[in-house]
Amino acid sequence: MHILLMGPPGAGKGTQAANLVTEFGIPHISTGDMFRAAVKEGTELGKQAKACMDAGKLVPDEVTIGIVRERLAKDDCKKGFILDGFPRTVEQADALDGIMKDLGLSITRVLNINVPAEDLIERAVGRRICKKCGATYHVKFHPSKAEGVCDACGGELYQRADDSAETMKNRLAVYEDSTRPLIEYYKKAGVYTEVDGRQAIDAVTKGLVEALKS
Ligand code: ADP
Ligand code: AMP
Repeated sequence: MHILLMGPPGAGKGTQAANLVTEFGIPHISTGDMFRAAVKEGTELGKQAKACMDAGKLVPDEVTIGIVRERLAKDDCKKGFILDGFPRTVEQADALDGIMKDLGLSITRVLNINVPAEDLIERAVGRRICKKCGATYHVKFHPSKAEGVCDACGGELYQRADDSAETMKNRLAVYEDSTRPLIEYYKKAGVYTEVDGRQAIDAVTKGLVEALKS
């Protein structure tokens, strides 16, 4: 099962990917997580990515496509994957088609989590992430039991630097310009399904699992 999880920033892709990993046991590959790991390690890639991420802009296609190509060639992707946050441009989608073809794989389904723009800033600004295990919380919609502490591993929760209202405005504009056109791209390919992301987290998961099993 080779799944693309799409949707605007803050729609719930990472949250849902974690639930789909539990359901299907295939790896979750998030380009955002890969860039954040590179920033933490202080690599050349990290330095380049950080400048783009802090500004709410996309990391250049050639860089992003390169890291995805490398990751998808690993053995654990043969049985399936959940790709989250890639592709984000038509150029990336075309490149992904080529990568999948080279690997002899095909996209099973594109799941788009649909959330209106007016909800997304609140979701992003209230997002908290565990430093240790990466679990995602929300101060209002999905709070941890003890403030600032991860329920799963006891790790410290932090707020992403790009989760400010100001940066979110840029990220949403970039989504509208560069990523929304992919909805038509995948509708044409006949693999597109949309799920209402305004529902509670578990209801969204149910909708996604149903779409995958149908
Ligand atoms: P994305 O990966 O698409 O950027 P996340 O999964 O990190 O989004 O979710 C963004 C924020 O919204 C997080 O704080 C998360 O806890 C919260 N969230 C996710 N799904 C829902 C939902 N269905 N209802 C309310 N809040 C949600
Ligand atoms: P995310 O974790 O998906 O919200 O991504 C955080 C940031 O990482 C984005 O705002 C971009 O700067 C960068 N990024 C993640 N995925 C991509 C991608 N497919 N193409 C370009 N930049 C990306």
